[in-house]
Amino acid sequence: MLLAYRGFAVTLLEKRSSVGGRTGGFRRDGYTFDVGSTLLMMRFVVEEMYELVGRRLADHLRIVPIDPMYRLDFGDRSLNVSSDASRMEDELQRFAPSSRRSLQSFLRSERNRLSHLYPMLQREWSGLRRLVSPSLVTALPHVGLRRSIHDVAGQYFSDPDIQLAFSFQSAYLGMSPWSCPAGFAMVPYVEHAWGIDHIEGGIHQLTRSMEEIAMGLGVHIRRECCARRLIGDKRHCRAVELASGERIETDDVVINADAVAALLGMLDDNVSLRFCRPRLRRMRESCSTFMLYLGLDTRLALDHHTFFFAADYRAEMDRVFGSRTLADDFSLYVCNPSATDSTMAPPGHSALYVLALVPNTRADIDWRTRAPQLREQILDRLERRASASIRPHIQVSEQMTPTDWADRYHVSHGAVFGLSHSIDQMLAFRLPNRLPAPRNVYLTGGSTSPGSGLPTILESARIAARLICERHGVFFPPPRPLPPPGGHRPQEVWVPGPASFSAEGSHQA
Ligand SMILES: Cc1cc2nc3c(=O)[nH]c(=O)nc-3n(C[C@H](O)[C@H](O)[C@H](O)COP(=O)(O)OP(=O)(O)OC[C@H]3O[C@@H](n4cnc5c(N)ncnc54)[C@H](O)[C@@H]3O)c2cc1C
Repeated sequence: MLLAYRGFAVTLLEKRSSVGGRTGGFRRDGYTFDVGSTLLMMRFVVEEMYELVGRRLADHLRIVPIDPMYRLDFGDRSLNVSSDASRMEDELQRFAPSSRRSLQSFLRSERNRLSHLYPMLQREWSGLRRLVSPSLVTALPHVGLRRSIHDVAGQYFSDPDIQLAFSFQSAYLGMSPWSCPAGFAMVPYVEHAWGIDHIEGGIHQLTRSMEEIAMGLGVHIRRECCARRLIGDKRHCRAVELASGERIETDDVVINADAVAALLGMLDDNVSLRFCRPRLRRMRESCSTFMLYLGLDTRLALDHHTFFFAADYRAEMDRVFGSRTLADDFSLYVCNPSATDSTMAPPGHSALYVLALVPNTRADIDWRTRAPQLREQILDRLERRASASIRPHIQVSEQMTPTDWADRYHVSHGAVFGLSHSIDQMLAFRLPNRLPAPRNVYLTGGSTSPGSGLPTILESARIAARLICERHGVFFPPPRPLPPPGGHRPQEVWVPGPASFSAEGSHQA
């Protein structure tokens, strides 16, 4: 979309029958499900993507703010988390009065951290020499070396459940709060500063809408078309070979498939010493998820987003990431979009999405035998924790295991949140958005810089598009600074006019 708008002839190859990947969706018997992403953070990043192609997000999608953002259920008590600071203070007062006064100091200090780190997420990191840039030197103290996101929460809040409420967001990155770097305290901060949104019809309406815009701009989308190999030499990739044997000649290649799987599978040679095959194989990955998608012929009295925590969340995380076994007592994230959005299920019905964090496929778990047991355990737990009868109401039931993520989406080891976000795999140490060799191959998506999650993968797309434009002498606007917390920016501020280009892609006007 970004490149086609700037006059490039773009062909998009998608191995599945529809685009969207982990931000895709599906319909079954009148129920609509998001496959992966269910909450939209940092809406302003998405708005910028639409503005970059001369459009307004609001003209394409109906964005629905969700507040309270989610309910955290700790078993014996629960917390409604709001992005409205005064509502949140009242809730903290009710839940753990000593936490009330800490909210403002969390918001103030973490705003400061994000303002230093945000420019790091918007830039390109393809050379190690970038490590000596002045902006990185000033940002470095905010990365929080040797501290975890849980340590950061503990710095503001003494109640253990509130500490979890401000650090469990490491799960969005497929990490434990006790090992996820402190810098990621920016994730709970962005939730509280800008709130979270739903998109009417499901979050996958975003990729559907982008597909529509891209096609309108002339992008040739080829579905059920699997890229197998890049053809060329170490310096230049000339063509992409498809699984069918067909070759597509190209000037530049952008790989949005899982980067580890793609680099190991599509290139004959080592990319460079930094990204040689043994090193790629050694890089640590995030955990995976076990998913249930349930269509129920009843209206479930559950909030849009609910997190049911295990009695000992730390022990659960130790099993997922340490011994790589399935915990007996596990947490669940449940998305019940029908609570807010009547388009997701027939009237009086619910389209339920249930997620459990599980080890990726490096663990010795046979999902063919384990999946049916886990499904029953999840349903038991859900019926108990949600105090609801679920089983008699199931009309549609689909599931996804780590091996399904690996097979269907080509995600290395089913690690759905990409490479782990440990300090030694972030910024200049993460897979860059342009390969050192061949130089005309670009990487985007969760395993690349800046990281996993919708706003960050969109940022990776913007960086790659900017680099390609620079290479071809085409203007690409610089990224915007962080907006003020709270409301969203008016979309009228800046809409670039459409540019026209010659067939070779050189800028004409
Ligand atoms: C369960 C789950 C819940 C999540 N929840 C959220 C959330 O609430 N909010 C949020 O911001 N983020 C969330 N995320 C993260 C977010 O969904 C991902 O970061 C993002 O979708 C990953 O996008 P991607 O472009 O890197 O990869 P993908 O979305 O996987 O896209 C890659 C595409 O490439 C295709 N492909 C792969 N190999 C080939 C090939 N050889 N040839 C052709 N096509 C190929 C795949 O089929 C796929 O369509 C969640 C992720 C998961 C898995």
